[in-house]
Amino acid sequence: MSRVDQLRGPAPRKRHNARTIAALTGNPGCTRRAVLDAAGVDKPKLAETIGFPGSFGQSRFALARGNAFEAMLKADDCALLRSVLAEAGSTPVSDSFVFGGSYEDLGEDSDDTLDARHARTREALAAGDIGLLDHPLLTLSVAGQTVYLEPDLIAAQRGDMLQVVEIKSFAIVDGQADSAAVSSAAVQAAVYVLALRRLLGDDRVSHEVVLVCPENFSLQPVAVVLDVRKQLSTLRRQLSRLASVSSLIDALPPGVTFDVAQPVPALLASLAAVDARYAPECLSACELSVYCRHEATGSTAALGRPVRDALGGVATVDEALGLAAGTVLPTPEQTEAAALLAAAARLRNEALSR
Ligand code: SF4
Repeated sequence: MSRVDQLRGPAPRKRHNARTIAALTGNPGCTRRAVLDAAGVDKPKLAETIGFPGSFGQSRFALARGNAFEAMLKADDCALLRSVLAEAGSTPVSDSFVFGGSYEDLGEDSDDTLDARHARTREALAAGDIGLLDHPLLTLSVAGQTVYLEPDLIAAQRGDMLQVVEIKSFAIVDGQADSAAVSSAAVQAAVYVLALRRLLGDDRVSHEVVLVCPENFSLQPVAVVLDVRKQLSTLRRQLSRLASVSSLIDALPPGVTFDVAQPVPALLASLAAVDARYAPECLSACELSVYCRHEATGSTAALGRPVRDALGGVATVDEALGLAAGTVLPTPEQTEAAALLAAAARLRNEALSR
């Protein structure tokens, strides 16, 4: 058994999907997450076992609304969706959509295996005659594991380029949408673009993806185009880091285990043996966040990246307070941060004394 499999214990390897791959980009500097993901550890189960469960996933209401929206768009061979995409043709970017009658639904055969649907996706893409491909199934290698990915649709642009279309249930109100929802949708769509590019080549797949969302407070759909080049390069970096994490795993002390059948103290000691890099953003991106936040209590890093960057070399809040009050002498590396803290304390005292 490889060291990676030993780390996880007898539990089956937790499979990735587009959402979990996208979440890898949330905290690229965290070794703990890279190790746990590379070993396929069930992080929600691990968090629950050590007494720090998190609440993740969409509410039932949001899921039901999302399903209803998607079903409405895809009814009658995607009639409404095609009209929305054609309307988006008035914008310069998506002017090149081609939606001649060609529409193929690869998800119709419910008895299909994943491998068979992936093979049919490859065939349809190789045939080249695509207007709109529904329920395609792509693959991507993540830390040596083949992950199946299901974009909502793949559309053809004029010429040879293909474009990923994602249907999302968050609303675009007066041309604005929740920025966290848009950025997570962009990273997820970038995962599909990367998988398509690895299959067909970079020059066949557009870096622009189409999001179809409800507009304002109705279920009326609207299409927007996003450029995901930045997300693609972060993803590539993060996936190559995961591929090289095995050397890090091999260097871990022999007793380290994330087998959830082990006693809690052993699991906590194992977690402590792998460096974490907690930031408040973890709370929406990683299932271990409640534990890592608890562990980081009292550290300046727990206050967010801007604070961590401004107070480089000052690890704890107590140390920061001491430097601000002048009761702690700064080390040479802390001189700059100490001056900042002392100035902030002086301004605060002046403001309070008025
Ligand atoms: S929650 Fe913990 S393990 Fe997850 S990314 Fe943040 S620091 Fe790393």
